Amino acid sequence: MRKPIIAGNWKMFKTVSEAVAFVSDVKGKAEIDGVESVICAPFTNLPALVEAVKGTSIKIGAQNLHWEDSGAYTGEISGAMLKDLGVTHVIIGHSERRQYFAETDETVNKKVHAALKHGLVPIVCVGEKLEEREAGETKNVCKVQTEAAFAGLSAEQAAGVVIAYEPIWAIGTGKSSTAEDANEVIAYIRSVVAGLYGQSTADAVRIQYGGSVKPNNVREYLQQSDIDGALVGGASLDPASYIQLVEGA
Ligand code: 13P
Repeated sequence: MRKPIIAGNWKMFKTVSEAVAFVSDVKGKAEIDGVESVICAPFTNLPALVEAVKGTSIKIGAQNLHWEDSGAYTGEISGAMLKDLGVTHVIIGHSERRQYFAETDETVNKKVHAALKHGLVPIVCVGEKLEEREAGETKNVCKVQTEAAFAGLSAEQAAGVVIAYEPIWAIGTGKSSTAEDANEVIAYIRSVVAGLYGQSTADAVRIQYGGSVKPNNVREYLQQSDIDGALVGGASLDPASYIQLVEGA
């Protein structure tokens, strides 16, 4: 059985004091047995968040990392640094990073290797643009991105990767994919992993849906056969809403 994983992607929101206040509001509530609850926050919040969630089951993730452990890379943060802080997860290849910060399938792959090297759980984002969907390219885009992200990983490493299927047209737009459509694409992504590593690895990999997930639709997604969680932007920022998302899983 795959453990459902609800991850909040705070993007570039919240100061340290806001982040700590959020944790005191959700403590003991956004903690449901059998559900993994992860807050992916800006780098500046991470030390305070790791401290604030001590004694809870809530995990803390970053939203990016560099693939080298250290070096002359001004402005970057490495997997070694995140691990040292007590961070456990890291989002890789979010469409906003691919679009605005020149992330490529190749850098995504390097970052996945770096995360695994440091024992961080990579949450790898894949998903199509609106034009690609309209051109019937959704599955192909997801296949190419998934295969590239997994390049060079062993089956054992692959089993520990979380994939987030986020159709770009559904991010922050209120236009979510239907649960059935999302499930079809996610089942297809699982078949791509099966093609690379075999069925038992594919059955172990958790695949989230992301894109306008809210407390009132999260359950619909999680009830689908292949959807193992949600990566949530806007609706993860409010404590009450975040609690409902975790409860909905
Ligand atoms: P929204 O939930 O705000 O649509 O954002 C989705 C997302 O990008 C999560 O990574």
